[in-house]
Amino acid sequence: MDDLQFGTRNKRGDWAPATALRASPIWPPQPARALSWLIGYLWPWNALFLASALLWWRWLIPDEATRRTLDIGWIGPLLVANMMGIALFYGAIEWRWYHRRAQDRRFKYNGRFPAEQPSDVFWFRSQNLDNALRTLLISVPIGTAIEVALLWGYANGWIAQRDWDSHPGQIIALVALAPVIHEAHFFVIHRAIHWGPLYRWVHAVHHNSVNPSPWSSLSMHPVESLAYFGVAAWVLVMAGHPFLAVWFFHLAGFGAVVGHIGFDKLAFGADGRPLMDTSAYAHYLHHKHFDVNYCDNGVLPLDVWTGSWHDGSPEGEARMQERFRRKRERMNTASS
Ligand SMILES: [Zn+2]
Ligand SMILES: [Zn+2]
Repeated sequence: MDDLQFGTRNKRGDWAPATALRASPIWPPQPARALSWLIGYLWPWNALFLASALLWWRWLIPDEATRRTLDIGWIGPLLVANMMGIALFYGAIEWRWYHRRAQDRRFKYNGRFPAEQPSDVFWFRSQNLDNALRTLLISVPIGTAIEVALLWGYANGWIAQRDWDSHPGQIIALVALAPVIHEAHFFVIHRAIHWGPLYRWVHAVHHNSVNPSPWSSLSMHPVESLAYFGVAAWVLVMAGHPFLAVWFFHLAGFGAVVGHIGFDKLAFGADGRPLMDTSAYAHYLHHKHFDVNYCDNGVLPLDVWTGSWHDGSPEGEARMQERFRRKRERMNTASS
């Protein structure tokens, strides 16, 4: 498997794909791309997260009567399952591609591994340890608390809901729409926490990982974790189904890994095949350049519409540099 058939590597050892990223064909509409885009919307990531959410719903979420009271008897196992699920999922990717280095640096955007770059910005000077601890001790408990509060609210009749037997169509539609809501919510909060004072207080923690790995996905300041998993609160205005509270946790929790894999393609076999596209490049460019790609190039081309889109091409790089130059000019004019 020669990654130089698919891209280029610079002197620092950073690999970049040869083809530019393509933004969502939703608007302006590109009907010819509709089918391949729809498959990409479902497979593999959203299908995987939906499967895990259904698994949780079936085996770990108790019945309505139990959920009516906040009791450690069901909240404890759910928290442990969420922590273990995230630890196993992120940990498996870390283990194979970052610890065992199954495909070494092939298709790796940043030529170095986080373990090779100890830094004082991280707890114990280790990006891996810092990111894993923040994920499991801060973000997952906060996300679980929001999930539990909503499940409890549903069980007590405080949140409007529909019955599965009489409204399956509406519930399926809301489940299908949830990734779009997650994306729009993330874009808005992400833009907000890039505002100077909030960036320094909150979001800088996440951006300490300039060279992200899966453990970086949920490595956040608690305020960011709250705003990020807060996407589940949209169920309050949906009249949906309690499953949506679980689905939002899985989309936000497990789904955060997508932009932080660090490799453009993952090889599963010993011979370097089959290869799986990761869709990680747009968010990798965000970690590298900060002021680009505030959402993950999903359904809504929000970055295209707001001028912050970087498709990874030389033209995209030139557009970004020009935008940065104009911003510096504006700041110089304002301060003179
Ligand atoms: Zn990130
Ligand atoms: Zn950011």
